[in-house]
Amino acid sequence: MKCFYNPSQDAIGICKSCGKGLSSEFAVDLGRGLACKGPCEEDVKSLISLLENSTGIRKTSDNLLRSSTKSCYAGAALFFGMGIGFCVLAWKGPGMSVLFYSGGALIVVALYQLFHGIHVTQMLKKGGSQ
Ligand SMILES: [Zn+2]
Repeated sequence: MKCFYNPSQDAIGICKSCGKGLSSEFAVDLGRGLACKGPCEEDVKSLISLLENSTGIRKTSDNLLRSSTKSCYAGAALFFGMGIGFCVLAWKGPGMSVLFYSGGALIVVALYQLFHGIHVTQMLKKGGSQ
């Protein structure tokens, strides 16, 4: 590939903003990419900044998801325990069907929390938030 600005020179890379081939004379290395000297430098700096910010946001969202899975499992254990407790109380006492149904509902909520936690854990293992 030849340099867009001086076709007699070989290109050493491509501008990250406009995609033109650049020789060392017309290229600026901004660390994470090349830019045309002058016209594209600010664009490439913005692109690099966006890339770094999105990487940071991804790490933050993954950490939030990880901590939410802990809440899911803790909630599932709590609701399951309460549901079983309600059902045992309803079984021992006569006329306690409301307590029994409440216990059943708590167990359903516990199962939902458990499966949600498992789903989020699997999503994180596959490669983070999607
Ligand atoms: Zn350019």
